[in-house]
Amino acid sequence: MANDPIIRIRDLSVRYHVARTGAWLTAVRHVDLDVYEGEFLTVLGPSGCGKTTVLNCLAGLVAPTSGELAVDGRPVTGPGPERAVVFQDYALLPWRTVTDNVRFGLEMQPRLRAGADERIAEAIQLVGLAGFEHSYPRELSGGMQQRVGLARALVADPRILLMDEPLGAVDALTREVMRAELERIIAATGKTVVFITHGIDEAIQLGDRIAVFSSHPGTIKEIVPVDLPRPRSAHANTTAYQDLRHHLWKCLEADATAAAMGATE
Ligand code: ADP
Ligand code: MG
Repeated sequence: MANDPIIRIRDLSVRYHVARTGAWLTAVRHVDLDVYEGEFLTVLGPSGCGKTTVLNCLAGLVAPTSGELAVDGRPVTGPGPERAVVFQDYALLPWRTVTDNVRFGLEMQPRLRAGADERIAEAIQLVGLAGFEHSYPRELSGGMQQRVGLARALVADPRILLMDEPLGAVDALTREVMRAELERIIAATGKTVVFITHGIDEAIQLGDRIAVFSSHPGTIKEIVPVDLPRPRSAHANTTAYQDLRHHLWKCLEADATAAAMGATE
């Protein structure tokens, strides 16, 4: 990939002021990352290593303390229509139907007002929720609620999808099914994706490359290309898959041990 990256992060650091203690906490430090158009990049790391912080910076929801962050060569100064976020906890509006939750993805964008109903219907169809247009979030399973979150992100046709452990809160079986569907949808739409996970298999099955984070403070430890044919789940028993899995596990192990021992900043 010799062309310019669509996402470029240079020497990103984020510190939070912790109101309770009055102290500063370095959440991420010296992060460098390029993501290319059409790429599916998974970000793998233990909880607390700063994954959400980096994603929120990309979304324009958190301002970096220092460093550079650009999309298409333009500095990120806030949210933008070319980026959409899928949140771990779905973040649906409980008083709105499926259709109106998906509509929310268009509401900040007057240029998309024409043809909104068709766009919404298409997005609902794409994520497999046709027939549930008039349901409320409370009437849907976790997996279905996250489909709504995905449709809301896709409806404005963003170039970049920022996904923060989107399958983290759904049951294991649903997660398998949705992973495969997500792969299909992304392949069909050609989106650039940054997908956060703490699951090694999820990172391997979805990623063209995997950015492995370590914590205390959070930074990128290694970027690993995944040279395995898709669907990866069909190759899980191969030596190549198992070697990669082992490598990633070793990468994470030191951190996991430190976390289990209660290591602090
Ligand atoms: P991850 O998504 O990998 O679990 P986060 O980016 O959520 O990690 O958090 C990284 C670190 O920053 C953690 O120690 C977390 O407690 C801290 N943190 C995250 N958000 C805030 C905030 N708004 N204020 C203070 N500390 C925060
Ligand atoms: Mg997180």
